[in-house]
Amino acid sequence: MSATANVTKVDFYEVLSVSRDASDQELKTAYRKLAMQYHPDRNPGDTAAEDKFKECSEAYQVLSDPEKRAAYDRYGHAAFNGSSSGAGGPFGGGGFGNAQDLGDIFGDLFGEMFNMGGGRGGRSSRVQRGRDLRYDLTLEFEEAVFGVEREIKVRRSETCPDCHGDGTAKGKQPVTCSQCGGRGQQRYQQGFFSVARTCSACGGTGTLISDPCQTCHGETRVQSEHQILVKVPAGVEQDTRIRYQGEGESGRFGGPAGDLYVVLNVKAHKFFERDGDDLHCVLPISFPQAALGTELEIQTLEGAETIKVPEGTQSGREFKLKGKGVPHLNERGKGDLIVEVRVQTPAKLTRQQKDLLRQLGETMEVENTPTSRGLFDKVREIFN
Ligand SMILES: [Zn+2]
Ligand SMILES: [Zn+2]
Repeated sequence: MSATANVTKVDFYEVLSVSRDASDQELKTAYRKLAMQYHPDRNPGDTAAEDKFKECSEAYQVLSDPEKRAAYDRYGHAAFNGSSSGAGGPFGGGGFGNAQDLGDIFGDLFGEMFNMGGGRGGRSSRVQRGRDLRYDLTLEFEEAVFGVEREIKVRRSETCPDCHGDGTAKGKQPVTCSQCGGRGQQRYQQGFFSVARTCSACGGTGTLISDPCQTCHGETRVQSEHQILVKVPAGVEQDTRIRYQGEGESGRFGGPAGDLYVVLNVKAHKFFERDGDDLHCVLPISFPQAALGTELEIQTLEGAETIKVPEGTQSGREFKLKGKGVPHLNERGKGDLIVEVRVQTPAKLTRQQKDLLRQLGETMEVENTPTSRGLFDKVREIFN
């Protein structure tokens, strides 16, 4: 496992520890509890808590929106995969929240709770963490199975190289905000409480930029394109997310960078279907092959293999090729390849073939009496 690639795939309902039919109120309560527990202000410097916080915020963002929730219920994480045009499409989809959206949700729920006096003082809110970015990467089926390295280009905000995130022109200093006197907050009375509100003039920074930096115009960041080598490990599947810590957008005023999530979209294979790490396919055989037995060659993902079909093979019988499936993600070992043979009934026959079949039929006896499915399905036992 690489140090930076952190492969995760989480069910939103599991993240919030709620049932799939949870009401809006239950969702809200669950999210509020988790968000309080993991809020960065309460766990300074604890990146695990920060990850948890982001995870449950993402989950809540989707599940609290009726449309997004319906889409998620139907299509899972894939619901938020589609809108960008496949490989190379930059940060498409509306699925994952960026920091801005999460902030909005949080604001709705908690009001200005975390801005009131405690926690970080007014001035420090000037430094903000950068937004997380999402990049949709489309892979060939085989690339997901065996792993691949792909160079991607990510356009993102980076700390301005000229003012180093300060926002002011060289040799100039930001001036104290006259609205709040540099405190970054304005206090007012509300009932019994004295409420502090972020200063609207300086946005809580306590300072104003009088001579903005020429390069970033005081924004403190510039847009730039960055190349990242994505190392996709063997065994990933649809919607696997790879997190690159600190590869998202830089924060304003030199704040820490957000994370980059590379979300994988895996193309379908011509005939193999995945069931976890097992591969499945169907192999048609003729009635004479099934009745007399035969040897068949099948192309696996790693070359040709021979399957011995014994005499008297029934349609639907499965043959398991051990270890010819998909490698387990971040683990040793592989899944299996399961080949189901299906006996094909010929639809077009020549007169000669019909005569032969009639002759055969006269020698055969079949009891056309009903039997239970369970009994009949016994023929579907798996052969190794
Ligand atoms: Zn600048
Ligand atoms: Zn101010």
